[in-house]
Amino acid sequence: MNDLDTNKLWREVLESIKVSVSPAIYSTWFSDTFLLSLNQNNNRYLVEVGCKSSFVKTTIETRYYGLIQDTLIKSLNSPCDLTFIIKEPDESGGLKPLNSVPLFSRPASDEPLLNDYFTKSGIRSFYTFDNFAVSTSNQMAWAAAEAVSNSPGSAYNPLFIWGGVGVGKTHLMNAVGYYLMHKDRDCKICTCTGEQFTNDIVEGIRNKSTQNVRNKYRKLNALFLDDVQFIAGKDAVQEEFFHTFNALVSIGAQIILTSDKPPSEISKLEERLRSRFEAGLIVDIAPPDFELRCAITQIKAKEKAMDIPMDIIQIIAGNIESARKIEGFLVKLSSELKIKNIKLTPELVESLLQKGTVQNGLTTKKNPDEVIDLVCKYFSIGKRIMLGKVRTRSIARPRQILMYLLRTQMLLPFDEVGRIIGGRDHTTVMHAVDKITHLASTDVQIRENIQGIKNAI
Ligand code: ADP
Ligand code: MG
Repeated sequence: MNDLDTNKLWREVLESIKVSVSPAIYSTWFSDTFLLSLNQNNNRYLVEVGCKSSFVKTTIETRYYGLIQDTLIKSLNSPCDLTFIIKEPDESGGLKPLNSVPLFSRPASDEPLLNDYFTKSGIRSFYTFDNFAVSTSNQMAWAAAEAVSNSPGSAYNPLFIWGGVGVGKTHLMNAVGYYLMHKDRDCKICTCTGEQFTNDIVEGIRNKSTQNVRNKYRKLNALFLDDVQFIAGKDAVQEEFFHTFNALVSIGAQIILTSDKPPSEISKLEERLRSRFEAGLIVDIAPPDFELRCAITQIKAKEKAMDIPMDIIQIIAGNIESARKIEGFLVKLSSELKIKNIKLTPELVESLLQKGTVQNGLTTKKNPDEVIDLVCKYFSIGKRIMLGKVRTRSIARPRQILMYLLRTQMLLPFDEVGRIIGGRDHTTVMHAVDKITHLASTDVQIRENIQGIKNAI
């Protein structure tokens, strides 16, 4: 095959992968890949796939090997084996990547008119399916949201999405609205929070304009109510919402609700509302795992036009646990880079991360002794040994983790940590904290250890 054909082949493969994974997974892992070489040997092809970073390579290799292989087998009509190679497309002399579409581009909404519609409906054009990354923790919710987008009013009604702060509930709900409105700009959608809904109802009662409020909410094609838990315990509001809900469902309008808890756990929620909510589909979103945080970091960095190499993405994702905090951190990082006019390095990011934990305030009420005991217990190491002089890896690493936690969770100064960890020097502590901060981005075991201990703390 010549370059042209292999190029075409890879494009075909990517096109077919594109329809079997989510847009976000596609842009995160596949869009920058390219076909490096294709060699035939006894009716079997050996295919070399170029990846831009080791992180992409590892993920594709472990998660999508089968998918790529199957797709290639279909196109080549013969068996094949794959190897993945880390290479920048330019220096390789191989083929150029085929991502004609920029990573995480937003769908064109340059039509001012459409933007107007978005504003009126309360839909934010920057929360779409395209920039929503999917992993095991949010796969169900994402699939449900997609289903609702494709058959609003009939797939799942209502769709109830619940989960902790910053897990992407608002983003996902908004993505459905964005999609529906793109498909049909006459689609009447209203997105509001439980709080806004409450204010509207209260206002309506006060101004004797309840009818106007009803007209606003009961003649929609879709109502998206964010943080619905807010209306619990407010009798008049729940009453009004109950009737709104019924009116909308009876005309086939789609309802999506989000909350920080499942319906069964929202206290003071009227029983009849609870049973309505439970009649639809209830899905939850768990906190993002490391890979998802990497993908989110990447997405947010791209949106801020920040060019962050993968090793730094991993440091950030390894050390910050919530999507919202990741975004905040990127803002801080970006301004730090601009103000000081300095280069982005792992050291800079690590030092900012450590400052961040200090600014965020104390994260535990435990005292240092209790933390030491917890860590000793976690690793099954006696306290005397933990604080002693033994330097084998199996003791030294837990000891470094202990120093890291005392510094980042208890916010103790370096020399203070040194003093309680068997009278060590502050530079030893600094080194330990750096080391663990860095390892948290590359080493799954360390990350799990830290998380496990943090949970115990
Ligand atoms: P919630 O409503 O659950 O509190 P949001 O939807 O407001 O959370 O999400 C918080 C931030 O994190 C937003 O900037 C959102 O874009 C981002 N975010 C959360 N999950 C994802 C995801 N899976 N992919 C991309 N961005 C995400
Ligand atoms: Mg929200």
